[in-house]
Amino acid sequence: MYPKLIQELIEDFTHFPGIGPRQAARFVFYLLKEDKMRVQNLAEKIKRLHEEIGFCKQCFASVTLGEGKLQMLCRSCADAKRDSRVIMVVEKEADLQNIEKTHSFNGMYHVLNGVISPLDSSGPAKLHIKELLMRVKNLLAEKKQVEMILATNPTTEGDTTALYLERTFSPLKIKITRLGRGLTTGSELEYSDPETIKNAFINRR
Ligand SMILES: [Zn+2]
Repeated sequence: MYPKLIQELIEDFTHFPGIGPRQAARFVFYLLKEDKMRVQNLAEKIKRLHEEIGFCKQCFASVTLGEGKLQMLCRSCADAKRDSRVIMVVEKEADLQNIEKTHSFNGMYHVLNGVISPLDSSGPAKLHIKELLMRVKNLLAEKKQVEMILATNPTTEGDTTALYLERTFSPLKIKITRLGRGLTTGSELEYSDPETIKNAFINRR
């Protein structure tokens, strides 16, 4: 049995996505071996995370909070050169970053903050779908032609989510496309190379 603090830290790390007890233990012992200053630095940054980082009030990408800690717009949403009528809907911010790297998309994003999973009962209410609906309705109220590109991953959950979004938004009569089949089933945007994502974007339908 490990000392209590080590045990607790291992438990904490197992809550990280995709991390099991064995990897969690490796993290803790890595920290224990690492230079004390570096570990304290890391702890300090983790402490600052929630104080200094917030989410874009429009697309929910992360932003550095300014003075007064007001919620603000991210760089893409604040960029007047980007096309606000085209909204790429992604599961998580890592996907957004990867699409940005291709330099082939000039619209806006919307981060859902997860997927609808039929198995673990995490329903649509947890995702930023209500906000997306408001966003699209606001654009329509301004008589704009809206295109929504569903860029959820080609996984069971990603497909379920895309289907749900299609059903939710089809009464609004907007153009809804899905990232093309450049992405093979099961492959995730987060791990796809820029060229593949670019092709998937060009081949959206
Ligand atoms: Zn934004």
